Amino acid sequence: VDFGFRQVPRDAKAGLVGQVFSSVASSYDVMNDLMSGGLHRLWKDRLVEALRPFPGQEHLDVAGGTGDVAFRVLRATSGSGSSRPPPGAAGGSSASDPPLVPGRVVVCDINPDMLRVGQQKAAAEPDLACDSGLSFVEGNAEQLPFPDSSFDSYTIAFGIRNVTDRPAALREALRVLKRGGRCVCVCVCYIINYILCSVYDLDYTVGRESRGPKPKHSARVGSTQHKQPPCRPQETFARMVEDAGFRAVTYENLTSGVVAVHSGFKL
Ligand code: SAM
Repeated sequence: VDFGFRQVPRDAKAGLVGQVFSSVASSYDVMNDLMSGGLHRLWKDRLVEALRPFPGQEHLDVAGGTGDVAFRVLRATSGSGSSRPPPGAAGGSSASDPPLVPGRVVVCDINPDMLRVGQQKAAAEPDLACDSGLSFVEGNAEQLPFPDSSFDSYTIAFGIRNVTDRPAALREALRVLKRGGRCVCVCVCYIINYILCSVYDLDYTVGRESRGPKPKHSARVGSTQHKQPPCRPQETFARMVEDAGFRAVTYENLTSGVVAVHSGFKL
C-alpha cells in the first residue's frame, strides 16, 4: 500500500467539508451502516457491478474516503472476489493458470483522515495489505493530481455532492480517463423521490429492480419515462455528465430513486 498524501488546493467549502469528514473519519463506516441501514453496501456493490471490472484495470476512485469502493474494485479485478497472491508467494498459481494481469486502484480523497482510516482497513485485510496495486493519494476532485489519460475507469461514490464545482470535477474525470474509459457515479437523490416512487411503483424491492432484464428506471438521457416522479435530479446530473464531454450517458435508479448510478464513456 502506497501513500501519496500531499497538500491540495482547497476553497472555503472544501475546508468546511474537510473539517466535517475529519471529525467523523474514525466512525464514518459505522455511521454509514446506521444511516443507510446497511444499504450503502448494496449500492456500492451495484456501482462496481455497473463498472464491469476487468483484470489489469487501472482504476481511480475519487472522494474514495475509507476505501470501500476501491477495495471492491481491486478484489473484482483480482478475479472472483479473492485475493491475488503477493509477489513471490508460493502456491498462488500454477503453470496452467492464465497469466495474472495486475491492476492498479487509486483511492483519491481531499481528506487525509478518511484516507488514513482506509489505510488501516486495508492493512487489516490480508489480501489488500500486500497488494502493491493499491495506493492512497490526497487530492481534490476539481484538480486531480494525475496526468491526462491515465485510468481505464473512474468512480465517485457519495462524493460529488460534497464537491464545490461539480462540472469541474466531471471535466477532470474526463481528462484523466483514457479514450474508451468509463466514469460511474453513485449519488443520493432527493428523498422525495423515494416517497413518490413508492406510490407509483410498489413492485420495487430494497436495493434494485426485482424482475425483468433491464431496470425499469434505467434511462438514456433525455428519454421520457412512464411513471417517473416529477422531481428528477438524476436527469439534471445526467445532463451535467454529458456537458462535461461524456457520451452514452445512462443512469439507473436504485431503491426507488433514493440513489442513482450514472455512467458515461470518454469516446
Ligand atoms: N466514497 C466513500 C464512500 O462511499 O464510503 C466516501 C464518501 S463520503 C460521503 C464523501 C467523501 O468525499 C469524503 O471522504 C470527503 O473527504 C470527500 N471529498 C469531499 N470533497 C472532495 C473533493 N473536492 N475532492 C475529493 N474528495 C472530496
